[in-house]
Amino acid sequence: MPVSGENTVEDGAEYCAAILDALKSQDPALGRKFLLEQAGRDPVEVLVLTILSQATNDRNSGLAYRELRARFPSWDQVLRAPDADVEAAIRRGGLARMKASRIKAALRRIRRETGSVSLDFLSGWETEDILRYLCSFDGIGPKTAACVALFALGRPVFPVDTHILRVCRRLGLVDEKATAARAQDQLQRKIPPGMRRELHLGLIEHGRRTCRPGNPRCHSCSLRAFCRKPGLKDFSPPAEKS
Ligand code: SF4
Repeated sequence: MPVSGENTVEDGAEYCAAILDALKSQDPALGRKFLLEQAGRDPVEVLVLTILSQATNDRNSGLAYRELRARFPSWDQVLRAPDADVEAAIRRGGLARMKASRIKAALRRIRRETGSVSLDFLSGWETEDILRYLCSFDGIGPKTAACVALFALGRPVFPVDTHILRVCRRLGLVDEKATAARAQDQLQRKIPPGMRRELHLGLIEHGRRTCRPGNPRCHSCSLRAFCRKPGLKDFSPPAEKS
């Protein structure tokens, strides 16, 4: 298909495939490191890690997660610990009080409803039911639910974080005013299932390294031919529940 900044959201799967090819041509190891880090993680681990990743970078959320697990090796220990101790353990991830409260509330509810702090039972559920169930937790939105479904349960969903939203708006894959939740819904229907994980990882990486919020590196961008906004200076999406 012809590729240009004039492509529209209706171009769909073919456009997404061309974008993925361009990302791979620049980085053949696309997302491999992240996948290795995620390998073997269970759904509760991914849930907690994704809550910690809200409104901070991977380095800080990773430090917060490791400190939490070092101080409290089991989830039951997290639940027994005073709130202040959990907050202290995850302080490096920012918003410690809010995140500690969300983590403890989620763990408490899982244990109350299932008898243990495990989400392994979700592996037998339909994907839509998994997403609906996780989004019913306080402070857990579509992105976090989709991360658990994708990385812990192997479901072909497409989580949209702030980086992906920004890049997809610039590329014309979603409406310019789309929220993350709406964009996730649009992209989920547009991107073929077999492409979602790689494209998710590739676009996040692209948003972090190249298509940055206020100073995109358009001159060295592998997606420049697709872009509606090459040379754009600032296109930051609004914050919202993730
Ligand atoms: S050309 Fe610039 S604005 Fe467009 S996708 Fe690349 S880095 Fe982002």
